[in-house]
Amino acid sequence: MRSGLGLAFFFLSSLLGLPACWVPVGVDFLEVQAKLDPKLTPVERAVLEKDLVRFLEVSLGNYAQPMYRALFGGDDLAAVTVFLNERVNYVLSSTRATDELMQSERHQARTKGQVQAFNIGAHYFLKSLGAVLNGEDSYQFEDFYGARIPIRSSRLGVIQLGEVYQSEEFLAREGDSLRRMGVWVHEARHSDCTGGLNSGDYDRLAQGLLPASKGCTHLHEACPKGTIYGGILACDLHPWGAYFVGATYHAAIAFNCRGCSESEKQTAMMAQVDNLAKIEPRLLDDMLSGRLGAPDLSHQEVIF
Ligand SMILES: [Zn+2]
Repeated sequence: MRSGLGLAFFFLSSLLGLPACWVPVGVDFLEVQAKLDPKLTPVERAVLEKDLVRFLEVSLGNYAQPMYRALFGGDDLAAVTVFLNERVNYVLSSTRATDELMQSERHQARTKGQVQAFNIGAHYFLKSLGAVLNGEDSYQFEDFYGARIPIRSSRLGVIQLGEVYQSEEFLAREGDSLRRMGVWVHEARHSDCTGGLNSGDYDRLAQGLLPASKGCTHLHEACPKGTIYGGILACDLHPWGAYFVGATYHAAIAFNCRGCSESEKQTAMMAQVDNLAKIEPRLLDDMLSGRLGAPDLSHQEVIF
């Protein structure tokens, strides 16, 4: 991102009362471009500001780790910034009712009780497609300035914070900012429709069911029995999902962060292990061993 847009972000940030978040990268400037909800609670805003500033303060040096490079296309956190900017466009307060911005919503989204954040844009993309397949209008997202955007792509990139972002304790916990930015990375991956959808998926969506192709929005499935999270709907059974991408980010922080505290590195290591525990073990082995080839970071627009 060129410095001209950096200035544009600074102006927008000023309007929203946010700090301008950029750091020099070579001769370039990079910043997280997602628009933050003007209705964020004071604690949510404080957490996000703290996290974004910290994310842009630290560095990976020249990490040169093949999987990290294959996923993010670079060797530093600037590459993650680019990854985020392609996939996260809006960050909503946890206090927003789901139908306040999603004008056609009929059902409450699943409970966000313990969820750190939720890619609500990807969720509504699948529901919107189901509505269109039934001859109805597509769903719309009303942005922070009143513009209504038809939801026709999982790359709409709307993330809603979980209620945990309202916790003062959450704000104060040492070393947590970079872990929470890993939540952004995880949610960003849900904005990709990798591999697209087939006719069987269309039939399922029209019936109000989720597609069988889990790569489109990278849907989680029940964890295999006998694993740590066995039976819980929190695992990836398809390659290059949100947990694998998140684990790769956390590993980079844990093992190569420049400017990180020990607490931040240890927190990242725990997050990496937790992410890896949510991937089907043989699948994880196949990805790490190279048997599945290069990671598939592609995204297919679904035309409707
Ligand atoms: Zn997820």
